[in-house]
Amino acid sequence: MDLPYPHLVSIESPPVIISSSITGLFISISLSKAEIPHVLIGGNAPGGQARLGESVNQTASIDFWKFLGPKYSQFCTTKSHISLMISDLFSMIYLGNPKRKLENIPRLVNSSFFNLATTSLIHVDRVLFDEQVYQDAIGSKFCHLIQSKIELINYSESTDRVNSILLENGEMFSNPRMVFDATGVVSLVAKSANLKKKVLSEVEKVVWTHLNVNSNEIPEDTWWKYGTNLLRLEQATDGLQGISWLIPLKERLSVGVSLANTNENPDEMPKEQVMDLLLRAYDKRGIQISKLYRHELEIRATPHQYYLLERACGANWMLAGNTFISIWYPSSSGLATSMYAALMAPGFVKKEEEIGKNYEDALLPLVDFHWHIDQMIKGGVGSPAALYKFWSIWVSFLPGKLSKHLYWYQYKQLHIKLLKLFSKLINIHYFVQLSLFGFAITAVSKRGAHGTPQKIWPLYFHSKKFLLNNYIKGFAQFLKSKITP
Ligand SMILES: Cc1cc2nc3c(=O)[nH]c(=O)nc-3n(C[C@H](O)[C@H](O)[C@H](O)COP(=O)(O)OP(=O)(O)OC[C@H]3O[C@@H](n4cnc5c(N)ncnc54)[C@H](O)[C@@H]3O)c2cc1C
Repeated sequence: MDLPYPHLVSIESPPVIISSSITGLFISISLSKAEIPHVLIGGNAPGGQARLGESVNQTASIDFWKFLGPKYSQFCTTKSHISLMISDLFSMIYLGNPKRKLENIPRLVNSSFFNLATTSLIHVDRVLFDEQVYQDAIGSKFCHLIQSKIELINYSESTDRVNSILLENGEMFSNPRMVFDATGVVSLVAKSANLKKKVLSEVEKVVWTHLNVNSNEIPEDTWWKYGTNLLRLEQATDGLQGISWLIPLKERLSVGVSLANTNENPDEMPKEQVMDLLLRAYDKRGIQISKLYRHELEIRATPHQYYLLERACGANWMLAGNTFISIWYPSSSGLATSMYAALMAPGFVKKEEEIGKNYEDALLPLVDFHWHIDQMIKGGVGSPAALYKFWSIWVSFLPGKLSKHLYWYQYKQLHIKLLKLFSKLINIHYFVQLSLFGFAITAVSKRGAHGTPQKIWPLYFHSKKFLLNNYIKGFAQFLKSKITP
């Protein structure tokens, strides 16, 4: 076919990205960096609405600094912990120093291999970030944006290829060299190829928004300001059953909940009422967001279910990121899967050997992480001993993920091999994990009289004392709780 755009005229069948969602945009930027002309089929600029996906995990944080670059730091805040509130037990995994400065991160991540995982960690305000990524992607001379939706994908089972893509505007792309499907749960290519979908959860109702704040009103030593905070809501005490997040962004707070379908009439409760109950649940735990923040953006709601597709790639197609796999959100892995797809996209177009296998190998271990989190969400982590075990296993996933990822940034083979070895070692037993990472797991704290966790948490801002305290008191507490459950 004749291409309708001058700078791609020499390419017979350019790669096509379906959807200008964040995954599609990352892939577009990656192809542009590799100077590969491509077509992006998508919509208008994203516009200002609260999005899901603002807590960034270790691998995607590294990508933020190394692949996207420090210019995006204006949308970020540092992420230093993940806390978990279950019944009256507060626990936390310490991931970085809350006093570190965002502007120093680019220097730190480039200075040492060991700094990489902890100092790079961030939250990102996607309202502004997605807009900037969109402008940067379509601004490249290698990207040709066509604003349309897909009407039909023609897939051939015998060749395992996408033969043509018909757009709603009547245009047709025949014999595309490569197709990146970034349509998320819609999974257009997977549907045309009739791929099996493995469901990993029930359908949950997700309700979320952004709240505005005057940052001067929040004291500097407020522990929950510096990390991702998770709260398991109980029907009996909170009027809702589900798992909620609280992610502080620059001058906003991202707050939401995934409601278990065991809730009484989850679909009938208005989203405003859900949000009201949610804010009250935080207030009860001493996190007084309803006093500090006010509503800024519209409250949004959607059904959601986690899943895994039968395979991630075919002869000329890739299910990108969230289109291939979606796992429990507390893993903060959504953007990470998008980045994996983006990093591998140029190799895919050039048909580098093993690239499809590498892509699947990088993403499939997430399923184990999903089931680990699922156990907590279903209520299986309700005692101090169980919480230690939960966090110990959580950290054991990190070195393995990192070792696979650092390959993309040409780190020394020796470093990568050592990480792999370390990953094997710590997976022997959670007691080994606890011995090695006990400094990061905060001793479980009971809720105090005013809802706030007691004693240990103010130490969070004095990292050496805090880490030592976690190790010594944590171990003692763990052993005690094993003996007297
Ligand atoms: C409750 C919850 C919390 C989450 N929290 C986090 C988190 O803290 N950290 C994290 O990293 N991730 C998180 N995620 C995951 C994250 O939100 C997603 O991975 C990410 O936003 C998905 O982006 P995407 O670009 O892959 O897909 P989507 O945002 O789903 O976009 C799909 C796009 O496809 C387009 N499309 C559909 N049909 C067509 C068609 N026919 N033609 C053209 N385009 C089409 C749609 O318009 C849409 O824009 C969370 C997810 C949930 C459910």
